Amino acid sequence: MSLAARRVMWGGTFAGILALTFVGLFKSRGSDPILIQVGPRSIPGIMGTQTEITAVVRADEEELGEQAHEVAEEVLRTMESRLSVHIKQSELGALNSAPAGQLVPMSPETVELLKRCRELTELTEGAFDPTAAPVFELWAEAGEHGRVPSPEDIRQAREQSTWDDFEFFPGESDGVMKRRDSAEVDLGAIAKGYAVDRAIEAMRSLGSTGGLVNVGGDMRFFGPRPGGDEWTIGLQDPFNPGSSEPMMRLRLPAAAVCTSGNYRRYSEVDGRRYSHIIDPRTGQPADTAPSVTVVAGDALAADAWATALSVLGPSGLGLVEGQESVEALVVVGDENEHHLYMTSGFGELILQSPGETMAEPPVASLP
Ligand code: AMP
Ligand code: MG
Repeated sequence: MSLAARRVMWGGTFAGILALTFVGLFKSRGSDPILIQVGPRSIPGIMGTQTEITAVVRADEEELGEQAHEVAEEVLRTMESRLSVHIKQSELGALNSAPAGQLVPMSPETVELLKRCRELTELTEGAFDPTAAPVFELWAEAGEHGRVPSPEDIRQAREQSTWDDFEFFPGESDGVMKRRDSAEVDLGAIAKGYAVDRAIEAMRSLGSTGGLVNVGGDMRFFGPRPGGDEWTIGLQDPFNPGSSEPMMRLRLPAAAVCTSGNYRRYSEVDGRRYSHIIDPRTGQPADTAPSVTVVAGDALAADAWATALSVLGPSGLGLVEGQESVEALVVVGDENEHHLYMTSGFGELILQSPGETMAEPPVASLP
């Protein structure tokens, strides 16, 4: 038996922790082939966070498991080099610094990704909007400058960039052209989720029977686990972070799960913390939902909705209900008073042992 425990910190008021436990059993069921788990292995330094990769292969294919690790890591690094806005030569770095009217060559995948992000901006009614990049920068700099941006600074920054400022050229001349010099896009809210999807795809194409890729708490699974059990995760009670008992356990059939924490990263001015998640509609830091967990068919969607719900709070769950195979849990409040809100299907993912009762606080109904 092999056991891996993973902890992801949610900073700030809740100091909530998502504790994940994966147990690989080296046994077969009936005539199923015997599967082994290669990993989990930790890799530091991708997208500024810790990565964990596990491959599941047949017992006689250990070498394939090793190769699955290699391709997954390579894909993650390639995605970082394409999508990071902090790397000047990345596709996104080149787009952001390009003048209007110049076609910026890009991989067809990145053009498709940008188009999917534009759709997600529509689906989330503007709560997820990577083109609000100039406003994200303004707030990121607030801590360094020691003062919060003025309403006029925010208005100007928000006015600099929208999806209408980008023209996509899929096909032979793959690339994107800006209509205004000032237009920018920041994929920080979905880069990890998207990279996880691509890494999972690469492992699957290679022939790995199953696997898990977790980049800083944004993760996706596929295939069976050794023993045929489902992948499960435990959400630690954010109000009792010292406890080794999770607040709830989730069973996850092949799916992705991502978390956003409003106070995970922040700027601090005069002792007050401002979230790194910004409401693109107002240009103000989002402080409605200190932590959000989203389960979806792919990690890109889970990541985008986690950011969007951090902006929208529980009232955004109505939008999620309309999305196929997206389920979400939103935690609101503070140490003294807090509530959990979830989509109707989220409850079905919660695993409960016989006789076990749900931990406090009770699940609140939608506002
Ligand atoms: P996440 O931790 O996945 O919620 O992503 C947060 C990062 O995405 C921030 O550091 C910004 O770079 C960017 N971001 C912040 N607010 C938004 C938003 N409302 N929509 C899209 N991207 C955002
Ligand atoms: Mg996100």
